[in-house]
Amino acid sequence: MSIGGLVARGVLLKEQMKKKPCKRCGLHYDHKELDECPHCGHLDQIGLEKLLAEKEDEHQGNRSLGSIFLVVAVVLAILMVIIAGG
Ligand SMILES: [Zn+2]
Repeated sequence: MSIGGLVARGVLLKEQMKKKPCKRCGLHYDHKELDECPHCGHLDQIGLEKLLAEKEDEHQGNRSLGSIFLVVAVVLAILMVIIAGG
């Protein structure tokens, strides 16, 4: 990773630390700078439920992606054992 990338990561981390989770949607935002949540402040109950459903989908997407990586890692490990053994 480049130094610029590291700096960007540090700044992002600092920004995240300022933020607190929203009581309504659970997403993080800066309570000091914003009166209402930028994620759900403009949404009604139906909009909020949609947002939360999308968030849940994203989480599940990440989970299945994680298990694909795990399977690939296991297959690679087995292949390496076979190659090393042969
Ligand atoms: Zn919110």
